[in-house]
Amino acid sequence: MSKSKNVAKSQLRPGLTLVATPIGNASDITIRALDALRDADVLVCEDTRMARRLMDMHGITLEGRPLIAYHDHNAAATMPKLLHFLHKGVTMVYLSDAGTPLVADPGYKLAQEVIREGINLSSTPGACAAVMALTLSGLPSDRFMFAGFPPPKREARRTFLSGFSAVPGTIIFYESPRRLAGCLTDMGEVFGNREAAVARELTKMFEEVRRGSLTDLAAHYAEAGAPKGEIVLLVAPPAPAPPATEEVIDTALRTALATMSVKDAAREVAATLNLPRKQVYERALAVREE
Ligand code: SAM
Repeated sequence: MSKSKNVAKSQLRPGLTLVATPIGNASDITIRALDALRDADVLVCEDTRMARRLMDMHGITLEGRPLIAYHDHNAAATMPKLLHFLHKGVTMVYLSDAGTPLVADPGYKLAQEVIREGINLSSTPGACAAVMALTLSGLPSDRFMFAGFPPPKREARRTFLSGFSAVPGTIIFYESPRRLAGCLTDMGEVFGNREAAVARELTKMFEEVRRGSLTDLAAHYAEAGAPKGEIVLLVAPPAPAPPATEEVIDTALRTALATMSVKDAAREVAATLNLPRKQVYERALAVREE
Protein backbone atom coordinates (compact mmCIF):
# COMPACT_ATOMS: atom_id res chain seq x y z
CA MET A 1 0.00 0.00 0.00
CA SER A 2 1.70 3.22 -1.11
CA LYS A 3 0.71 6.43 0.61
CA SER A 4 -0.40 9.48 -1.34
CA LYS A 5 2.48 11.74 -2.31
CA ASN A 6 0.48 14.84 -1.46
CA VAL A 7 1.46 16.82 1.61
CA ALA A 8 -1.09 15.84 4.29
CA LYS A 9 -3.44 18.81 4.67
CA SER A 10 -6.47 17.07 6.10
CA GLN A 11 -5.09 16.70 9.65
CA LEU A 12 -6.17 13.07 9.48
CA ARG A 13 -5.32 11.21 12.64
CA PRO A 14 -4.85 7.45 12.73
CA GLY A 15 -8.33 5.98 13.07
CA LEU A 16 -11.60 6.29 11.18
CA THR A 17 -12.82 9.57 9.65
CA LEU A 18 -16.41 9.77 8.39
CA VAL A 19 -16.50 11.88 5.24
CA ALA A 20 -19.68 13.71 4.19
CA THR A 21 -20.20 13.90 0.41
CA PRO A 22 -22.58 15.96 -1.79
CA ILE A 23 -26.35 15.24 -1.90
CA GLY A 24 -26.75 16.39 -5.49
CA ASN A 25 -24.51 19.31 -6.31
CA ALA A 26 -20.97 18.01 -6.80
CA SER A 27 -19.49 21.27 -5.49
CA ASP A 28 -20.92 20.65 -2.02
CA ILE A 29 -17.86 18.89 -0.66
CA THR A 30 -15.51 20.52 1.79
CA ILE A 31 -11.84 21.18 1.16
CA ARG A 32 -11.07 19.09 4.24
CA ALA A 33 -13.10 16.17 2.86
CA LEU A 34 -11.14 16.29 -0.41
CA ASP A 35 -7.86 16.47 1.50
CA ALA A 36 -8.95 13.47 3.58
CA LEU A 37 -9.72 11.48 0.42
CA ARG A 38 -6.25 12.38 -0.92
CA ASP A 39 -4.40 11.62 2.33
CA ALA A 40 -6.06 8.52 3.81
CA ASP A 41 -4.12 5.25 3.81
CA VAL A 42 -7.31 3.21 3.32
CA LEU A 43 -10.57 4.31 1.68
CA VAL A 44 -13.82 2.58 2.62
CA CYS A 45 -17.10 3.35 0.90
CA GLU A 46 -20.67 2.19 0.47
CA ASP A 47 -20.21 1.73 -3.29
CA THR A 48 -16.82 1.75 -4.99
CA ARG A 49 -18.19 3.10 -8.31
CA MET A 50 -19.74 6.13 -6.58
CA ALA A 51 -16.54 6.79 -4.63
CA ARG A 52 -14.40 6.49 -7.76
CA ARG A 53 -16.69 8.87 -9.63
CA LEU A 54 -16.42 11.45 -6.84
CA MET A 55 -12.65 11.09 -6.68
CA ASP A 56 -12.30 11.29 -10.50
CA MET A 57 -14.35 14.48 -10.47
CA HIS A 58 -11.82 16.05 -8.11
CA GLY A 59 -8.72 14.56 -9.68
CA ILE A 60 -7.96 12.29 -6.73
CA THR A 61 -6.20 9.05 -7.57
CA LEU A 62 -5.87 5.90 -5.48
CA GLU A 63 -2.13 5.46 -6.09
CA GLY A 64 -2.23 1.88 -4.87
CA ARG A 65 -4.34 2.58 -1.78
CA PRO A 66 -7.06 0.04 -0.99
CA LEU A 67 -10.67 1.06 -1.80
CA ILE A 68 -12.94 -1.29 0.13
CA ALA A 69 -16.74 -1.61 -0.11
CA TYR A 70 -18.52 -1.68 3.25
CA HIS A 71 -22.31 -1.79 3.48
CA ASP A 72 -25.08 -3.49 5.42
CA HIS A 73 -24.83 -6.73 3.43
CA ASN A 74 -21.10 -7.35 3.84
CA ALA A 75 -20.61 -5.74 7.26
CA ALA A 76 -20.06 -9.01 9.15
CA ALA A 77 -17.35 -10.19 6.75
CA THR A 78 -15.67 -6.80 6.16
CA MET A 79 -15.68 -5.29 9.64
CA PRO A 80 -12.86 -7.54 11.04
CA LYS A 81 -10.67 -6.60 8.06
CA LEU A 82 -11.26 -2.88 8.65
CA LEU A 83 -10.59 -3.19 12.38
CA HIS A 84 -7.39 -5.10 11.61
CA PHE A 85 -6.19 -2.18 9.44
CA LEU A 86 -7.20 0.33 12.11
CA HIS A 87 -5.36 -1.51 14.87
CA LYS A 88 -2.22 -1.21 12.74
CA GLY A 89 -2.58 2.60 13.06
CA VAL A 90 -3.71 3.55 9.54
CA THR A 91 -5.72 6.62 8.60
CA MET A 92 -9.03 5.40 7.15
CA VAL A 93 -11.95 7.32 5.64
CA TYR A 94 -15.52 6.10 5.25
CA LEU A 95 -17.96 7.66 2.79
CA SER A 96 -21.50 6.69 1.88
CA ASP A 97 -23.06 7.32 -1.53
CA ALA A 98 -24.44 10.75 -0.67
CA GLY A 99 -24.52 13.09 2.30
CA THR A 100 -23.50 12.25 5.83
CA PRO A 101 -22.62 8.60 6.57
CA LEU A 102 -24.80 6.92 9.24
CA VAL A 103 -27.77 9.23 8.50
CA ALA A 104 -30.16 6.72 6.85
CA ASP A 105 -26.96 5.20 5.48
CA PRO A 106 -24.50 2.51 6.58
CA GLY A 107 -21.69 3.15 9.04
CA TYR A 108 -23.33 3.04 12.46
CA LYS A 109 -22.10 -0.43 13.42
CA LEU A 110 -18.62 0.37 12.14
CA ALA A 111 -18.48 3.63 14.13
CA GLN A 112 -19.81 1.84 17.21
CA GLU A 113 -17.17 -0.88 16.94
CA VAL A 114 -14.41 1.70 16.40
CA ILE A 115 -15.49 3.50 19.59
CA ARG A 116 -15.72 0.21 21.50
CA GLU A 117 -12.18 -0.75 20.44
CA GLY A 118 -10.79 2.59 21.63
CA ILE A 119 -9.83 3.70 18.10
CA ASN A 120 -10.06 7.40 17.21
CA LEU A 121 -13.28 8.38 15.39
CA SER A 122 -13.54 11.72 13.60
CA SER A 123 -15.47 13.34 10.75
CA THR A 124 -15.26 15.89 7.98
CA PRO A 125 -18.83 17.23 8.26
CA GLY A 126 -20.88 18.44 5.32
CA ALA A 127 -24.13 17.99 3.41
CA CYS A 128 -27.10 16.24 5.00
CA ALA A 129 -30.53 16.35 3.33
CA ALA A 130 -32.40 16.31 6.66
CA VAL A 131 -30.59 19.37 8.05
CA MET A 132 -30.76 21.32 4.80
CA ALA A 133 -34.51 20.61 4.50
CA LEU A 134 -35.06 21.71 8.10
CA THR A 135 -33.35 25.03 7.48
CA LEU A 136 -35.50 25.70 4.39
CA SER A 137 -38.82 24.41 5.75
CA GLY A 138 -39.89 27.44 7.79
CA LEU A 139 -40.78 25.01 10.60
CA PRO A 140 -39.35 25.30 14.15
CA SER A 141 -35.67 24.46 14.10
CA ASP A 142 -34.93 24.79 17.83
CA ARG A 143 -35.96 21.17 18.41
CA PHE A 144 -36.23 18.47 15.79
CA MET A 145 -36.26 14.73 15.43
CA PHE A 146 -35.00 12.68 12.50
CA ALA A 147 -37.34 9.73 11.96
CA GLY A 148 -35.83 8.17 8.81
CA PHE A 149 -37.98 6.32 6.25
CA PRO A 150 -41.56 5.39 7.30
CA PRO A 151 -42.53 1.78 6.51
CA PRO A 152 -44.04 1.42 3.02
CA LYS A 153 -47.23 -0.44 4.03
CA ARG A 154 -50.15 1.64 5.27
CA GLU A 155 -50.92 -0.11 8.55
CA ALA A 156 -47.29 -0.32 9.63
CA ARG A 157 -46.79 3.29 8.58
CA ARG A 158 -49.68 4.54 10.72
CA THR A 159 -48.40 2.63 13.73
CA PHE A 160 -44.90 4.03 13.10
CA LEU A 161 -46.22 7.60 12.73
CA SER A 162 -48.32 7.43 15.90
CA GLY A 163 -45.08 6.89 17.84
CA PHE A 164 -44.04 10.44 16.86
CA SER A 165 -47.30 12.31 17.45
CA ALA A 166 -46.24 13.76 20.82
CA VAL A 167 -42.71 14.78 19.77
CA PRO A 168 -42.39 18.46 20.81
CA GLY A 169 -40.33 19.46 17.77
CA THR A 170 -40.26 19.31 13.98
CA ILE A 171 -40.17 15.71 12.73
CA ILE A 172 -38.07 14.95 9.66
CA PHE A 173 -38.74 11.95 7.40
CA TYR A 174 -37.14 10.63 4.24
CA GLU A 175 -39.71 9.32 1.78
CA SER A 176 -39.88 7.97 -1.74
CA PRO A 177 -41.78 10.12 -4.28
CA ARG A 178 -44.13 7.19 -5.09
CA ARG A 179 -45.33 6.99 -1.50
CA LEU A 180 -45.43 10.74 -0.80
CA ALA A 181 -49.18 11.39 -1.30
CA GLY A 182 -50.19 8.31 0.72
CA CYS A 183 -47.78 9.19 3.49
CA LEU A 184 -49.05 12.79 3.69
CA THR A 185 -52.64 11.49 3.94
CA ASP A 186 -51.72 9.12 6.77
CA MET A 187 -49.81 11.90 8.53
CA GLY A 188 -52.87 14.18 8.35
CA GLU A 189 -54.93 11.44 10.00
CA VAL A 190 -52.38 10.51 12.65
CA PHE A 191 -50.99 13.98 13.50
CA GLY A 192 -54.02 16.16 12.66
CA ASN A 193 -53.78 18.88 10.04
CA ARG A 194 -50.38 20.32 11.03
CA GLU A 195 -48.13 22.54 8.96
CA ALA A 196 -45.60 20.60 6.90
CA ALA A 197 -43.05 20.95 4.11
CA VAL A 198 -41.86 18.79 1.23
CA ALA A 199 -38.25 19.49 0.21
CA ARG A 200 -37.33 18.00 -3.16
CA GLU A 201 -34.13 17.72 -5.19
CA LEU A 202 -32.11 19.74 -2.70
CA THR A 203 -28.97 21.38 -4.11
CA LYS A 204 -29.99 20.25 -7.62
CA MET A 205 -31.35 22.10 -10.64
CA PHE A 206 -35.02 21.57 -9.73
CA GLU A 207 -34.71 22.22 -6.00
CA GLU A 208 -38.14 23.01 -4.58
CA VAL A 209 -39.68 23.41 -1.13
CA ARG A 210 -43.48 23.22 -0.96
CA ARG A 211 -44.98 24.38 2.34
CA GLY A 212 -48.55 24.00 3.58
CA SER A 213 -50.88 21.98 5.77
CA LEU A 214 -50.72 18.18 5.59
CA THR A 215 -54.19 18.11 4.02
CA ASP A 216 -53.30 20.65 1.34
CA LEU A 217 -50.00 18.95 0.52
CA ALA A 218 -51.68 15.51 0.36
CA ALA A 219 -54.33 16.91 -2.02
CA HIS A 220 -51.65 18.57 -4.18
CA TYR A 221 -49.58 15.42 -4.66
CA ALA A 222 -52.65 13.17 -5.06
CA GLU A 223 -53.65 15.37 -7.99
CA ALA A 224 -50.21 16.17 -9.44
CA GLY A 225 -48.92 12.60 -9.13
CA ALA A 226 -45.59 11.42 -7.76
CA PRO A 227 -42.94 14.13 -8.11
CA LYS A 228 -39.53 13.35 -9.55
CA GLY A 229 -36.39 13.12 -7.46
CA GLU A 230 -35.52 12.78 -3.80
CA ILE A 231 -37.75 13.92 -0.99
CA VAL A 232 -37.53 15.09 2.61
CA LEU A 233 -40.84 15.48 4.42
CA LEU A 234 -41.12 17.64 7.54
CA VAL A 235 -44.00 18.01 9.98
CA ALA A 236 -44.48 20.78 12.55
CA PRO A 237 -44.73 19.93 16.26
CA PRO A 238 -48.19 19.79 17.87
CA ALA A 239 -49.67 23.19 18.70
CA PRO A 240 -49.06 24.10 22.37
CA ALA A 241 -52.08 23.48 24.61
CA PRO A 242 -54.08 26.71 25.16
CA PRO A 243 -53.51 28.30 28.59
CA ALA A 244 -55.84 26.90 31.27
CA THR A 245 -58.95 29.04 31.93
CA GLU A 246 -59.88 30.20 35.44
CA GLU A 247 -62.69 27.65 35.44
CA VAL A 248 -60.28 24.79 34.63
CA ILE A 249 -57.88 25.93 37.38
CA ASP A 250 -60.68 26.23 39.97
CA THR A 251 -62.11 22.80 39.11
CA ALA A 252 -58.67 21.20 39.43
CA LEU A 253 -58.09 23.00 42.75
CA ARG A 254 -61.47 21.92 44.18
CA THR A 255 -60.67 18.29 43.37
CA ALA A 256 -57.18 18.57 44.84
CA LEU A 257 -58.34 20.47 47.98
CA ALA A 258 -60.77 17.66 48.79
CA THR A 259 -57.81 15.53 49.83
CA MET A 260 -54.82 17.87 50.16
CA SER A 261 -53.56 20.94 52.01
CA VAL A 262 -53.63 24.28 50.18
CA LYS A 263 -49.88 24.09 49.65
CA ASP A 264 -49.91 20.56 48.20
CA ALA A 265 -52.98 21.22 46.08
CA ALA A 266 -51.37 24.38 44.65
CA ARG A 267 -48.14 22.53 43.92
CA GLU A 268 -49.91 19.68 42.15
CA VAL A 269 -52.26 21.84 40.07
CA ALA A 270 -49.45 24.23 39.11
CA ALA A 271 -47.35 21.30 37.88
CA THR A 272 -50.23 19.67 36.00
CA LEU A 273 -51.35 22.86 34.26
CA ASN A 274 -47.84 24.23 33.87
CA LEU A 275 -48.64 27.45 35.77
CA PRO A 276 -46.63 29.55 38.27
CA ARG A 277 -47.04 28.03 41.75
CA LYS A 278 -47.52 31.43 43.48
CA GLN A 279 -50.46 32.32 41.21
CA VAL A 280 -52.12 28.92 41.81
CA TYR A 281 -51.50 29.14 45.57
CA GLU A 282 -53.32 32.49 45.78
CA ARG A 283 -56.21 31.06 43.79
CA ALA A 284 -56.26 27.96 46.05
CA LEU A 285 -56.71 30.20 49.12
CA ALA A 286 -59.69 31.88 47.46
CA VAL A 287 -61.23 28.56 46.42
CA ARG A 288 -60.88 27.21 49.96
CA GLU A 289 -62.64 30.30 51.36
CA GLU A 290 -65.55 29.67 48.98
N1 SAM B 1 -26.95 10.17 4.16
C1 SAM B 1 -27.87 10.99 3.41
C2 SAM B 1 -27.99 12.35 4.08
O1 SAM B 1 -27.06 12.76 4.77
O2 SAM B 1 -28.98 13.05 3.88
C3 SAM B 1 -29.20 10.31 3.24
C4 SAM B 1 -29.12 9.02 2.47
S1 SAM B 1 -30.66 8.19 2.32
C5 SAM B 1 -30.15 6.63 1.70
C6 SAM B 1 -31.33 8.89 0.86
C7 SAM B 1 -32.57 9.73 1.15
O3 SAM B 1 -32.16 11.02 1.62
C8 SAM B 1 -33.41 10.02 -0.09
O4 SAM B 1 -34.33 8.97 -0.36
C9 SAM B 1 -34.12 11.30 0.31
O5 SAM B 1 -35.20 11.02 1.16
C10 SAM B 1 -33.01 12.02 1.10
N2 SAM B 1 -32.21 12.86 0.18
C11 SAM B 1 -30.94 12.65 -0.17
N3 SAM B 1 -30.53 13.61 -1.02
C12 SAM B 1 -31.57 14.44 -1.20
C13 SAM B 1 -31.79 15.62 -1.96
N4 SAM B 1 -30.83 16.13 -2.72
N5 SAM B 1 -32.99 16.22 -1.88
C14 SAM B 1 -33.97 15.73 -1.10
N6 SAM B 1 -33.82 14.61 -0.37
C15 SAM B 1 -32.65 13.98 -0.41
